[in-house]
Amino acid sequence: MNLILLGPPGAGKGTQAKRLEERHGIAQISTGDMLRAEVKSGSEIGRQAKAIMEQGALVPDDIITTMLAKRVSQPDCAKGFILDGFPRTTPQAEALDRMLREKGLQLDHVIELQVDDDALVERIAGRFTCAKCGAGYHDTFKPTAKPGVCDACGSTEFVRRADDKAETVAARLEAYHRQTAPLLPYYQAQGKLSAVDGMAGMDEVASQIEAVLAK
Ligand code: AMP
Repeated sequence: MNLILLGPPGAGKGTQAKRLEERHGIAQISTGDMLRAEVKSGSEIGRQAKAIMEQGALVPDDIITTMLAKRVSQPDCAKGFILDGFPRTTPQAEALDRMLREKGLQLDHVIELQVDDDALVERIAGRFTCAKCGAGYHDTFKPTAKPGVCDACGSTEFVRRADDKAETVAARLEAYHRQTAPLLPYYQAQGKLSAVDGMAGMDEVASQIEAVLAK
């Protein structure tokens, strides 16, 4: 099963992608996570992407599509994948269509997480993750059970994304509306698009997604 989760930054794509990965044994592919790993490693791609990401703009399509093509060829994608944060532009969506065709694969569902822009800044500003295992938390909506200690691995180190600042979030939202939202009619025309209410609680969103997959 091959899926795309579409939606603005802070809509909950990462949270839901992780759940789908666990539940269905398919790989979560987050191009944002891949780019952050490149930045951390100091690679050539990371060097090119860093300043762009800090401004909240999109990294060039050719860098992203090359990176994605390599990733979907890895063995953990054999049962399928959930694309989280890709495609973000029409050329990326067209490149994905070509890639899937060449591999004899198909896209099963494109799921849009619908969220009000007003809610996104608050959601994004409170996010943090465990530096050791990557478990995701939120100051208000999903704090750790014991303050300062990761529920999953017990680590006491956490990180916040450099681009989760309010100024950058505005640029990321603008990029979403201008460059990514046109993908909604693109996938609607392919008969692949379903919307779920991203304002609902995490469990409710997850069950709405499962209802789409069961169709
Ligand atoms: P995300 O973690 O998906 O919010 O992505 C963080 C940042 O990485 C974005 O604001 C972009 O600068 C960059 N990025 C991630 N995925 C893509 C993509 N598919 N196309 C272009 N830029 C991307």
